[in-house]
Amino acid sequence: MYYAVCDALECDVGGRVSAFKPAQELSGPIGEDGNVLQVRDLRMRYGSVDVLDGVNFTARRGEVLVLLGPNGAGKTTTIEILEGFRMRSAGEVLVLGVDPARGNERWRASLGIVLQSWRDHGKWKVRDLLVHFGRYYAPYSTPARPRPRNVDELIATVGLTALADHRIATLSGGQRRRLDVAIGMVGRPEVLFLDEPTAGFDPEARRGFHDLVHRLSDLEDTTILLTTHDLDEAEKLADRILILADGRIVADGSADQLARRASAQSEVRWSRNGEHFVHPTSDAPTFVRELFAQHGDAITDIEVRRATLEDTYMAMVHRHETGHPGRAALTLVEADR
Ligand code: ADP
Repeated sequence: MYYAVCDALECDVGGRVSAFKPAQELSGPIGEDGNVLQVRDLRMRYGSVDVLDGVNFTARRGEVLVLLGPNGAGKTTTIEILEGFRMRSAGEVLVLGVDPARGNERWRASLGIVLQSWRDHGKWKVRDLLVHFGRYYAPYSTPARPRPRNVDELIATVGLTALADHRIATLSGGQRRRLDVAIGMVGRPEVLFLDEPTAGFDPEARRGFHDLVHRLSDLEDTTILLTTHDLDEAEKLADRILILADGRIVADGSADQLARRASAQSEVRWSRNGEHFVHPTSDAPTFVRELFAQHGDAITDIEVRRATLEDTYMAMVHRHETGHPGRAALTLVEADR
């Protein structure tokens, strides 16, 4: 849908789609099984480089998926293919049951898109721009999803009420990013794509954004796919985390599941008589019970540390990027058995 709106404003957000070619025949009834996003064996080649080399994942209605991966892994490429902004080299993709390469205006109207960087329309005022974009969605309004959203409520939701009549050029980076998020939401989308939405947010804006994502998925059943480099944010937001490395999804699961895959071992740290101890164990409760049975009140400062999402992320990315599994990667292999 962004092309249509942006055409009117003479911007070139949609200009990245060079050509729509007919999609390949889909091999199965994908999209009919309740999946809002369905990606099978997605491939993208730039020149002679295979950036995506067989990406597979699905998302159900109301799920929040966070796509992680190092710079250059292909996250933006993946998202832009799903948005219909880039034509894939191969593979099967359905978004709301439609191949993005063939999506019509009604299909576009059900998507919300927050691009990684978009700095146009500096002379527009915040409210005016949202009203303008919102108009595009009116023909696609349904009783279940009234479109567009009430613009003043939306401006309040993203914390820009005081700036509603200010020109966009005067906004700070973080405020501009909040406006980007509002633009992505104005059509009350069924699927929302957000590429690094919180870049430049202060902690308060970040927390506000996290609440917003939870509300959109819980109350409006919006399916959300977002990228971030903030692992803490990923852990807070994601129903499922996908790690993209070496052209493939190398991990797919909740933050908890991924952390357990990284290492079955916890680390117990404690102090006794002024000395500090650390012990790895696969059964922390039993170890801690025995520790107290043995030393009782002499134990102070006890801490049990499970593997974190960061441990998993580093292990997975290291393993797949170097092609030489290191220590952490070996832990993963062992845990997988
Ligand atoms: P990420 O979002 O994970 O940082 P991108 O999808 O932006 O990764 O890019 C993945 C790789 O593809 C990078 O090496 C990038 O340089 C390359 N790339 C992206 N767009 C193009 C393009 N239009 N032409 C050639 N190479 C590209």
